[in-house]
Amino acid sequence: MEMTGRLFYSVYKAYFFSKLHQKCYMDTWEIITHLGENREEYHGAMIPPMYQTSNFKFDDLSAMQTALSDEYHYPVYSRGNNPTVKILREKLAALEGAEDALVFNSGCAAISTLLLSQLKAGDHMVCIAKPYGWVKYICDYILKAKGIQCSFVEVLDNDAGVYAYIQASNENTRLWYLESPNTFTFEVTDIAAVALASKERGIITVIDNSYSTPLYQKPLLLGIDFVIHSASKYLAGHSDVVAGVLCGNSESIKEIYQSYYLALGAVISPQDAWLIIRGLRTLPLRLEQSSKSALEILTAIEHHPRIEKIYYPFHHSHPNYEIAKLQMKSCSGLFSIKLKVDNTEAIHRFCDAFKVFSMAVSWGGFESLIFPALAFQVKDETDQNALSWKIVRFYVGFEEVEVLKNDLLQALAVINS
Ligand SMILES: *Cc1c(COP(=O)(O)O)cnc(C)c1O
Repeated sequence: MEMTGRLFYSVYKAYFFSKLHQKCYMDTWEIITHLGENREEYHGAMIPPMYQTSNFKFDDLSAMQTALSDEYHYPVYSRGNNPTVKILREKLAALEGAEDALVFNSGCAAISTLLLSQLKAGDHMVCIAKPYGWVKYICDYILKAKGIQCSFVEVLDNDAGVYAYIQASNENTRLWYLESPNTFTFEVTDIAAVALASKERGIITVIDNSYSTPLYQKPLLLGIDFVIHSASKYLAGHSDVVAGVLCGNSESIKEIYQSYYLALGAVISPQDAWLIIRGLRTLPLRLEQSSKSALEILTAIEHHPRIEKIYYPFHHSHPNYEIAKLQMKSCSGLFSIKLKVDNTEAIHRFCDAFKVFSMAVSWGGFESLIFPALAFQVKDETDQNALSWKIVRFYVGFEEVEVLKNDLLQALAVINS
């Protein structure tokens, strides 16, 4: 890119990052313990009640008419509005710096509902090369069957994705899908630069922000249009809920609510919404602990002879470390390592040796987890694009860090046996 373009990008970026550090939204504690909760309405209860109801009663026909003509504002039926869900929506929107948010019964429901609402036959979208697995399925099967094409791009170049997104686009490109960092190899996209390039082209941008949560990264303030979360991870935080979030401006969210959200009906239950409201109370503490322990563990193992590579945005070896440091306030507790081994039996020995880390998918709860790529990846070293079977992903939970560190070190030692 020519000099003026570069200069413009850096000025734009400086502007947004200064905005990020300004107090342009409510304090986090105020959002998570007060916003949306009207204690005087429910006897001063510290914790809001769970409105476990499917429908709402009206006093007279005019009240019912009013409500039915505006289901966006009135509780009528819990596929649309429910007071417990409403509290959660307000909190999530405020945390993200968004005007509004919708909550779904899974992260995948949030993603598919959004993509179906924004794309029509003939449209094209560009997506990060290794998004969350089911996003690839949505693109390759569901969208494709509707006549929507999708290109996948690597973002590991010097510009962290901006050229990749531009080059993969054509006159039909309507949407750019980002996931930064993505959650197996932790590639980082330059969010502000990609958002700016999208605006110049009239392209909608969407980011999956599950890894960072709104506490560590606020993509809407960097110019992104929609933020998606799997609330099943850090937001709910206790491995007991599957849920998803979509944040955006009120006009778009209202439009989606009144069409695809109500029609596809992938709505969260009041109980799961209530559990996430509870989970949010401890989100800052949980994130801090997970992140601190992850760094400590990485420092202990980074020079280990059995480790070929570390995948973590805040590790100095990360190719886009500088950009990660700039756009993320901190880095959460999920990372991967590539083991220096030459057969799959060594991966089996390593993974089976853990006594504290459990082997499971997902992340964000109390329990520390490992997820070996070999669990879903066939060993194929000829395919350059395939995720290496030597990669194992770690989620660092809340057990004592010494215990976790020792567990990992003894498992590394077992490889040699
Ligand atoms: C888990 C996950 C999803 C999907 O969310 P569900 O709640 O499982 O449907 C999407 N993106 C990322 C990054 C995830 O980790």
